Amino acid sequence: MKKIAIYPGTFDPITNGHLDLVERALRIFDEVIIAVAQSQRKQPLFSIRERLNLIRLAVKRFERARVETFNGLLVEYVRKKKGVAILRGLRAVSDFEYELQMAHMNRRLNTNIETVFMMPSEDYSFLTSTIVKEIASLGGDVKDFVPVEVEKALIGKFKIVGDIVE
Ligand code: ADP
Repeated sequence: MKKIAIYPGTFDPITNGHLDLVERALRIFDEVIIAVAQSQRKQPLFSIRERLNLIRLAVKRFERARVETFNGLLVEYVRKKKGVAILRGLRAVSDFEYELQMAHMNRRLNTNIETVFMMPSEDYSFLTSTIVKEIASLGGDVKDFVPVEVEKALIGKFKIVGDIVE
């Protein structure tokens, strides 16, 4: 049976760190489904449709990766998709406490689903979607951190804001 990993997150927007993790996971799993949460509470910069489109473009080169959105309980979604694992990234100790809590809670909710943590290349261990947005909003260069489509989308978002401020 195919081993499917579900990689959930907000991906606002997807970064090279996220992609590094997908690439690593594809060495272990047969398929990776990137599951984009609405995360309304986080007030995302990009709409769910924009995030899905940007991820689709970014993962085109990975034959065994695909993108979907999900609502509701993550473990329910994983069960429906016949996933064997939830994939999460660990960049630094600061990620650990929250991730541990989530992994234990998800295990409580469904004992058959494992959470697998992977570490990105050290080049991306400092990278967060939040920092990328911050740099882009200040007119900084983000091309080393995100795929080219995301770079363009960020410039587009902040250009309009900048024009209004000026
Ligand atoms: P969430 O709202 O679930 O935190 P994110 O899109 O911020 O959504 O992150 C999704 C997952 O990707 C998390 O497990 C996070 O630790 C991981 N992640 C985020 N940035 C990186 C990175 N630079 N390298 C590796 N993993 C990352």
